[in-house]
Order: sequence, then C-alpha cells, then structure tokens
Amino acid sequence: MPKHRDKPRPRPPAPADDWALFLDVDGCLVDFADTPDGVSVPARLRATLEALATRLDGALALVSGRPLRGLDHLFAPMRLPTAAGLHGLERRSAHQVQAAPEPPPAFASVRDEARQLATRWPGTVVEDKGAALGLHWRGAPAAGDALRDFADAVLPRLPGYRLQHGNQVVELRPAEGDKGAAIDALLEEPPFRGRVPVFAGDDITDESGFAVVNRRGGLSVLVGDREPSAAHYRLRSPEAVRRWLAEGVAA
Ligand SMILES: [Mg+2]
Repeated sequence: MPKHRDKPRPRPPAPADDWALFLDVDGCLVDFADTPDGVSVPARLRATLEALATRLDGALALVSGRPLRGLDHLFAPMRLPTAAGLHGLERRSAHQVQAAPEPPPAFASVRDEARQLATRWPGTVVEDKGAALGLHWRGAPAAGDALRDFADAVLPRLPGYRLQHGNQVVELRPAEGDKGAAIDALLEEPPFRGRVPVFAGDDITDESGFAVVNRRGGLSVLVGDREPSAAHYRLRSPEAVRRWLAEGVAA
C-alpha cells in the first residue's frame, strides 16, 4: 500500500461549553490491549468524563464498536445516559433506545467455526457481540490473513451483513447504520441539539462520524496517524486525548 504523507492537522481547541461531544473508546479514550477484555479505564478518565458531561449539560456520548453492555461493564461504576454501541447499531439516550437486530440463523455456526479457527492461532480472539462478530489478531499478527479470508468466505452466509475492517480486527456486522448516522440522530435530540458537534476517534469506522460533524460545521478529531482521513484536527494518542479532555474540566 502506498504510504500517505501525514496531512497537517492542528490540535483541537480545549472543550467548550457549547459542544456536543462524541467519543470513540478503544484507541481513542483508552489504549489498546492484546484482547478487548484486557483494556482498562484509568480512574481519572471516569472522573474527567463525568465532570465534562456535567459541564456540557449531558451532551457527551460514547460512540463505540463495543456493545452497550460491554461499554457499561468497561466504565462501571460510571454509566453515561447516552451511548451508541456496535458502531452505531444500538443506541440509548434520554429519549430513545434502539436495539441491535437479531442475528441471522447461520450466525451461531459461523461463530463456532471462527472459534475453531482461533484455536489454531493462539493469541487471536473471537468476540461475540450479539449481533456482530469481531475477529481480533492483535495478539497474533501472523493470523491476520487467515481471519480476513475466513470473514470473506463466510460473509455470504449472513444475509444483510458486511465486513467492518479495523485496527487488527475484522468484524461481521449488519450492513445498516454507522457511527455517523448515530451521531446525526443524537444531534436531533436534547441535550445535543443546537450544539457544535465534536467527534474524536482513531479507526476507519470513525470516518462516517467525521463526515457528519464536518458537514454540520463541527470539529473532527483523528487520534493517531492513520491515513487517509477526513478529520480536520489530530491528537497523537489516547493519552493526548485524555489530557485534552482534562483541559475542558479545568477550564
Ligand atoms: Mg477506536
């Protein structure tokens, strides 16, 4: 693949009172671990998010590829009233709850075959997210091709599904919905409505969110150095994101 030159992107300004803040989780708020379960949330981050949510009158939402129950588990005892999970497929807010669709009948057999394949590649993880299946190879980089090939091969057995490629993961997921659509929907409701939308994220799935906030005159913040990206601003790492958010609390 051709190596893209880094596009110059400034650091975003400190969080402001009139923002609607949407935050990806893995690779954005928290650092990656070898497995999704290995990730930990610094106690200070919880405090920062709670203080920011108060400052923004509740206009702060996590927008993640994890299922909502996984987000709540990860951030417990904190539980933000608004969140979008499964890349926007499921959502909860003060005004609505949108559940993920039921997976097709072949989902269980595909999952079992994936688990069988994973036993041949120690370090890989099959993540059953309910409606989606994540195949992770962060802990076994050599397994990437085998897991991608598997996902390509089984996709036709899951009608209405598509692949979501990410950072050392491929997911089989329902084709409908994305993070951008979830952000768009939340921006129609209080307390988000009428605010400047701001979205930070690191992965390809976050580009749909960048497109929405760019179109709505907001701020798009790429975390890390993935290229190409539609984001206008950049922070180098989850640690830089946490510092940036903390500025919004101190202000
Ligand atoms: Mg991410």
